[in-house]
Amino acid sequence: MRVLLVGSGGREHALALGLAADPSVERLIAAPGNPGIAGVAELRQVDTADPAAVAGLAVEEGVDLVVIGPEAPLVAGVADAVRAKGVACFGPSAEAARLEGSKAFAKDVMIAAGVPTARAYTCTDEAGTAHALDEFGAPYVVKNDGLAAGKGVVVTDDRAAALAHAAECGRVVVEEYLAGPEVSLFVVTDGEAAVPLLPAQDFKRVGDGDTGPNTGGMGAYAPLPWTPPGLVEQVMREVVHPTLAEMRRRGTPFAGLLYVGLAITAAGPRVIEFNARFGDPETQVVLALLESPLGGLLHAAATGTLAAHPPLRWRDGAAVTVVLAAANYPGTPRTGDVITGAERPGVIHAGTRRAADGALLSAGGRVLCGTATGPDLAAARDAAYALIAGVQLPGSHHRSDIADAAVRGEVRLPSRGRDEATGNG
Ligand code: AMP
Repeated sequence: MRVLLVGSGGREHALALGLAADPSVERLIAAPGNPGIAGVAELRQVDTADPAAVAGLAVEEGVDLVVIGPEAPLVAGVADAVRAKGVACFGPSAEAARLEGSKAFAKDVMIAAGVPTARAYTCTDEAGTAHALDEFGAPYVVKNDGLAAGKGVVVTDDRAAALAHAAECGRVVVEEYLAGPEVSLFVVTDGEAAVPLLPAQDFKRVGDGDTGPNTGGMGAYAPLPWTPPGLVEQVMREVVHPTLAEMRRRGTPFAGLLYVGLAITAAGPRVIEFNARFGDPETQVVLALLESPLGGLLHAAATGTLAAHPPLRWRDGAAVTVVLAAANYPGTPRTGDVITGAERPGVIHAGTRRAADGALLSAGGRVLCGTATGPDLAAARDAAYALIAGVQLPGSHHRSDIADAAVRGEVRLPSRGRDEATGNG
């Protein structure tokens, strides 16, 4: 099978490693890819937000499957354009990708499907926002209604800051705060059949102890030793299948990767958000543990044959990834610094580029991550930190507590009748 992978971040590097390791994938092309992906794929230049350009490349290269990594091409309709050329595509239609592209649309689907989630109001002016904030009380949760690359959400005790964020965004969703540790569950689906991957946890805040502003994600680990028994089955039953049924009922079936972001509250799992693609950096750890061939799985989802796919096989042990971020991230990151020590297995490129002389340079906020597996979570964490310690990037920073609370057995589930936050991590 010939595969075209669309995207250029850490998630796509992890996908590329998984696809390249699948014996049924005889040729892997990535567009535009990155210097890490170049190690396992042929790179092509393309404007990933241009549906006709991506579909044209797929036809030109005679590929059997297109895998779309990031959300922006999905929302722009790249999957529709590829399928219109008769090429199988892993990734939802533009209509279905609105589950991620619009927070208000996602809420509407969740309510229609009876999916447990935070109560919410869509607000477009200050009076409406103020009313919603006061109804729910602090901590306040204000979400930009549009795509914001994981950074459009403000969670704060400061009412003025919540109002200011709403004013900046224009149209926002204000919702009730969900207290409890977070879980990312990836579900591969052809619109009807659905296969869950291993639950993972990511770390959104920039600083140790979940301090500082939100980021695109500073690290992740899997599996989660602390989740309640039966969690995945419950989420498939209460969240995933009702959502897929509602999308089919609307005439816009969702096929691709449904990312279910959950808070495990005292009242049970509640959906924080849907995304229409693999999450970054959780993909790095989930795929590091997946033993079943990735290309075959994604091809089955893209061709409506997932029900006939054999059950997934997973490696024993655990995986941890630690993100190395550029100076000033999550503000405007400093770029163009020379990176050394990155040429090792397990180093996943997220924001890098090659200079004309071959040097590896930083080119984004999240520059790379160290991903490692081990017989248990502590061993995987130590190996991931050893990878990061071997990389030199001036001014860079990373969290030093990824997976620590889970290793120490300190991730607490809120108990019924109590309503206090245990936070993330
Ligand atoms: P989102 O982009 O919706 O995933 O939000 C980013 C992050 O904000 C989540 O991973 C949570 O840490 C936090 N968050 C979003 N919504 C809520 C909520 N209703 N209650 C508590 N935290 C939330």
